[in-house]
This record gives sequence, C-alpha cells and structure tokens, in this order.
Amino acid sequence: MRLGEMQDWPLRVTRLVDHAEREHADGEIVTAWADGSITRTTWGTVARDARKMAQALERLGIKPGDRIATLAMNHEHHLIAWYGAVGMGGILHTINPRLFDDQLEYIANHAEDRVLLYDRAFTPIVERMKPKWKTIEQYICFDPAEDETGFREWIDAEDGNYEWVDGDERAPLGLCYTSGTTGNPKGVLYEHRSTMLHTLAQLSPDIMGLSKQAVVLPIVPMFHANAWGVPWAGAATGAKLVLSADYRPERMCQLFRDEKVTHSAGVPTVWLTMIEHVERTGETFPDLKQVTIGGSAAPRAMIRWLRDRGVAVGHAWGMTETSPIGTCGAPPSGWDQMGDEEQVEYIARQGRVPFGVELRIVDDEDNVLPRDGKSSGRLQCRGPWVIKRYFKAEEDAADADGWFDTGDVAVLHPDGTMQITDRSKDVIKSGGEWISSIELENAAVGHPAVAEAAAIGIPHPKWDERPLLCVVRANGNDVSEAEIRDHLRKHVASWWMPDAIEFVDELPHTATGKLSKLQLREQFRDYRFSNAEEMVGRD
Ligand code: AMP
Repeated sequence: MRLGEMQDWPLRVTRLVDHAEREHADGEIVTAWADGSITRTTWGTVARDARKMAQALERLGIKPGDRIATLAMNHEHHLIAWYGAVGMGGILHTINPRLFDDQLEYIANHAEDRVLLYDRAFTPIVERMKPKWKTIEQYICFDPAEDETGFREWIDAEDGNYEWVDGDERAPLGLCYTSGTTGNPKGVLYEHRSTMLHTLAQLSPDIMGLSKQAVVLPIVPMFHANAWGVPWAGAATGAKLVLSADYRPERMCQLFRDEKVTHSAGVPTVWLTMIEHVERTGETFPDLKQVTIGGSAAPRAMIRWLRDRGVAVGHAWGMTETSPIGTCGAPPSGWDQMGDEEQVEYIARQGRVPFGVELRIVDDEDNVLPRDGKSSGRLQCRGPWVIKRYFKAEEDAADADGWFDTGDVAVLHPDGTMQITDRSKDVIKSGGEWISSIELENAAVGHPAVAEAAAIGIPHPKWDERPLLCVVRANGNDVSEAEIRDHLRKHVASWWMPDAIEFVDELPHTATGKLSKLQLREQFRDYRFSNAEEMVGRD
C-alpha cells in the first residue's frame, strides 16, 4: 500500500515534555506541600529532572515495560516521576493510598511493580505493606525527613544527559486500577498514543478551557484517573500548574487567591466541602473562571452556587477506563439566549463528547436505543482512549466492534448531551420502572439544610424495590422528614418519593471520594420499611 508523504512522528508523550521545555521553559509549576511550605519550579527544570530520573531508574536496572509505582499526592516530584518513568519506557503505576490493605496488596503484586516512590505521609502504609509486596525491590521517598535522603538526592546523582527511549506509539505507559466495588481491582493499561490523543482532545476549549493564560489547580489526585489528564495537558498548553498535596478547603482557597487560580477541577465532594467553608468564612476566589466537576453527578444546587459567584461550570463524565474524559459540558450555540434555569439544566447533564469518543445506549437485549432524550439504557462507548482489555485479562472488555459497557445508565438527548441517570447497579427498580437514585439525591441536596444524601433500593414485597433516602443534615440543623418531603415533592415524580428517610451522621465514601452505595446497602441490608404493604403508593 502506498503511504502518504508526511512525516512519521510517533505519538509518544515524551514529546509533551520536550514541547514544554522548548516552548514554555519558564512556565511555572507551584507545589503546596503537606507541611505547609510552597516550592516553585518550571517546565524546563521538570524536563531536566525527569531525564535524571530516567537515568537513575536505568541505573537500578529497570527496563522498558517494567512497572514503576507511585503512592503520592500531587506535587512537583510526582510530576517529574510521571515523565521520568515513561521517558525511559517504563509503565507508571499510580496507586491510590486510600485503598484497603488487601487491595493495595493485590494491585502492587498483580502489577509486579519493581520500584515504589512514596510520600513520607504514607510511610505507615509502606511499612505495613512491605512484607506483603512481593516484587518491589526499591522504595524511594519523595519528601524524606531532613536528616534522610530520598528522591532529590537519588536523581541529583545523575547528569540529565539522556535521550528518551523511543518506541512504538502503541507501547504502554501507564497503569491505573479501578477501585473495584466488587471482586479484585482491575488494571487499565494506557498507551503513549491513547494518552496523546486524549491530551489533544483535552485542548479543545469545550473541555476544560485550558490555555497558556490559565492557572490551573487540579483538586484531583494524580493517582485517580491521571488527575483527569491535567499534568499532560499542562505540558502541552504551558498553563501555570498549581499542585497541592493537601485538599483542605482553607488551603485550596488560599492557593486560589495567592496563585490567582483561574481553572480548577474536582469531584462533587471536594466542592461540597469548599462551599461549606466559603459559606462559613466568607472567603472569595476573585480569579477563578472555570471549574470542571466530574467523577459523580454534579448537583444543580452546586452548579448554581458556583455560577452565582461568576464561575463557569463544566460537568464532565468519564472513567478510569476512558483515560478518563468521556464527555464534558460547555455552552452550546444559542447559550446567551437561554434563560438562567435552562443553562443550569444544560450543565446538570453530563455534557457532550469530544471528537474521539462515540457513545450509544442499549437495552437489556443489546438493541441500540434512539437518542431521543427519553429512552434510557446501558451506556456504551468506544474510541482510541477507551479500554479494550483489562491488564492481564484473558478476554476483551469491549465487544468485537469496540463497544465498552460502562456500567452506567444514561439518556442521550437530540442536542448531543448525555445524561447519566444511574450506575446500573444503583438504579432502584420499582414495579418494573426505574427510579434514578442520582436524581433523588440531587433533589434532596437542593434543600439548603441537606449536606449530602444517598438513595438506595430496599426490597419491597409488592414493588420489588422502593427508595430509602439517607440524609446528612448540614451543620447541625434539625430539618424534619416532612420538610424534606415537601421539598422533594416539587422536584420528583410522586412515585419516586422515598418510602422512608433516615438521618445519618455521615455517608460512606469510596477511595475516590464517591458515595459507596455498596457499603450503604450493606449497612442497611436488613432494613425493611415498616408496614410495607400499607405504604405502597402512599405518595
Ligand atoms: P472511576 O473510574 O473511579 O473514575 O469511576 C467512573 C464512574 O464514575 C463512571 O462509570 C460513573 O458511574 C461515575 N461518574 C463519573 N463522572 C460522573 C458524572 N459526571 N455524573 C455521574 N456519574 C459519574
């Protein structure tokens, strides 16, 4: 076959850091460390340090394709480690320190990690797990105590005179395990090419609005779905990057102000704590222009709160299996003619796909359903940064046409927006119809006295399942069940009304900050509605 006559330029992510070094050598990277100190570096220095680290790994005998793990929050050393590990052809395995011990044991052994770079704050985890981790030969601390040596000394023993390892653009570069609500966690093996294409898509103004003008503070850990790609996209755009090892809202607000942060991203729980803090202290973030919320559904009340303070909200959906960006909400044409509520409704959906992601919904018999804004079905996706097969699995996770079943249930609207109605495991199946737990929760947190809410299905003799709503009251108020019911009635269909509301002090969360419905269902395993028969259709 005759090829075209353009240049061969394999899509390797080392080109990102080379670009950053050439074009944004002075581009600033700020780190707010866990001990409260601030350090500053530049893309030029990060690129040089990453080459030193690549040399240091080779000196340890690490070979291309070997797994190099990190157990760390966001900071400049972690950033250097990302580029250093992949630059010598290694596979960067970002471990989530919030996982349970048996999960930590499983994933490091399954990945066959050879080196572990870790934060001093996680020393207790490392000491506890060392006897169980069978393949890790070297432990290097990113931020050792003053009288100890660690990452800095390790890389500074090298001269940085190093050429990145070249190779196929389809070669693997990263490994991230899904939190795994059931069974063992599963590894997603990213490629240079998939990461580069994801990065290029991320540069679209409709995704996070990143540019050379932007100052971006991702409140997404670098161990969770690649910090939504920000450390890669930052190198491409030359945006000022603010990394923080500490997510307390007071620290975030201080950084927003001192570093003049314009863009940020995080899961709803992060914004929830931020909102509570700002409401209590009256803090402001005068430079913040755009916030991306994803990982769980962004409640309308949260979108409104940010918009009222002049911050544009992009609502993103994605998964570890989709690198992670699948969709993001940004204003469509005709935005200015839309009313305020219409705009909020638009953003409350999970947004549109960037070029490179295809979505469809199917029913239980795998029939493709129309994009009519009404049909709800299992969401499937495909594209060059969507998983084909889990690491070391025997079979593909996607079907022969590339469709990967996300485990989410969604509606596709004629205007191209996608709306998640639930996780397929979480929908409440009442009398053959589906109740969206997300919509119920969203409606509940729209009440100012509700801090957080979770809806689960409880077995019911007549309806199969009926909703139980668990509510955390905001700041010790004493809002009553009747008041919450009055509020809900205005927002959800009468047959969606929960059969019971239970007030709880806190709700369980997963290692990535999402509501853990699994744990909640476990907690309420023996729960039964009183007089279930009489309560049928009460509302
Ligand atoms: P993870 O791989 O841990 O990032 O989890 C991916 C899952 O998070 C998805 O399959 C969804 O169930 C959920 N998710 C991510 N973003 C959103 C969103 N914007 N709204 C609702 N659910 C979301």
